Amino acid sequence: MFKLRTNLLLFLSGISILLVSCNMNEENLTEKAVKIHDQILTVDTHCDTPMRLLRSGFNLGEKHDSREGGGKFDFPRMKEGGLDAIFFAVFIGQGDRTEEGNEKARNYVMEIFDAILTSVDENKDIAAIATSPEDAYEIEDKGKRAIFIGLENGYPIGNDLSLIEKYYGMGARYITLCHTGNNDICDSSTDSDGPEHNGLSDFGINVVKEMNRLGMMVDVSHISDPAFYDVLEISNAPVIASHSCARTLCDNPRNLTDDMLRKLVENGGVIQICFVSEYLKTPEPFPERDSAKYALREKYKNFQNLSDTEMDSARAEWYAIDREFPPELATVADLVNHIDHIVDLIGIDHVGIGTDFDGGGALKDCYDVSEMGNVTLELLKRGYTPKDIEKIWGGNLMRVFRKVRDIAEKES
Ligand SMILES: [Zn+2]
Repeated sequence: MFKLRTNLLLFLSGISILLVSCNMNEENLTEKAVKIHDQILTVDTHCDTPMRLLRSGFNLGEKHDSREGGGKFDFPRMKEGGLDAIFFAVFIGQGDRTEEGNEKARNYVMEIFDAILTSVDENKDIAAIATSPEDAYEIEDKGKRAIFIGLENGYPIGNDLSLIEKYYGMGARYITLCHTGNNDICDSSTDSDGPEHNGLSDFGINVVKEMNRLGMMVDVSHISDPAFYDVLEISNAPVIASHSCARTLCDNPRNLTDDMLRKLVENGGVIQICFVSEYLKTPEPFPERDSAKYALREKYKNFQNLSDTEMDSARAEWYAIDREFPPELATVADLVNHIDHIVDLIGIDHVGIGTDFDGGGALKDCYDVSEMGNVTLELLKRGYTPKDIEKIWGGNLMRVFRKVRDIAEKES
């Protein structure tokens, strides 16, 4: 009995020692993660928050609650999450490809460009507009947040190549060639009518060449597989996928296959892993939620060509469905599984982070920008070195950005 007790005590004290050392390890790791996160340049290549700026009263300088409809991003939370630089998407959904539709699209994106420039100017003590890789590091050194601009959807270019230089002049440093529908540039990976150009159109070929000439990054997220291969053949500079994941781990047309990832290495480009749960993890069936969302899409004609009031109602109803049937969100561990897969397949130099916050991105344990440090902690737990983590968080993207610009300068 005594012996049994002694053994039990010994056994129990063994467990508690183990537990203590686990906790200590966890603490050390957390401390180390905080330090690394603080020292490196952290960049997110895709965030749809600017859409919110068109709604009156949304101030990027104020802290909001993401669980109370306050969105996933504002400057105070960006600082809290230790995020140094972000690409704001000037996003426009695909509408009519007519003279009138193109004009409407041009006017709409000008409003978003203006809203971004105004908001950043109103918060110049915290943030500054960046247009080059060097800007990002300089702004970080000043203790401020760097705001880059990317145009999500080439639709507003219509069929006027000269507009690309105009958007470049307004600060845009990448263009996502299309969104969920085909446009005059290329096919989308998710157009319900299927392919139209079987890749890039002739006009699209010229768009890619013009972007190369200007030193603007071509973003292959959203485009169809044949369009991806066309872009890689035409582009003389590396490309980015600003918010996509690995199709081997989650079979979604928005993700890149292993073959595409291998081609991305030959091109020297980078894939920025996205926080959208349905691109990270095949969702469990949820018929009530799916049919409610489907009905909403039908009601608001796939959210295309809506007036501001219709858009507000559609958004409110969308969030109401989320509250009634909350989706099972992917986790930081799921996200890092994609990074692991890509690193195993093509090495450490071609992967980064592009959240899609306020465009569908949200993880259970990184629900908004204030929780970005959790990604660094998970990377550290998986054995990534500080150098690896620096590459994932921004080094790789900045290498591509520099290269795209240098190629353009050399050719001019
Ligand atoms: Zn998108």
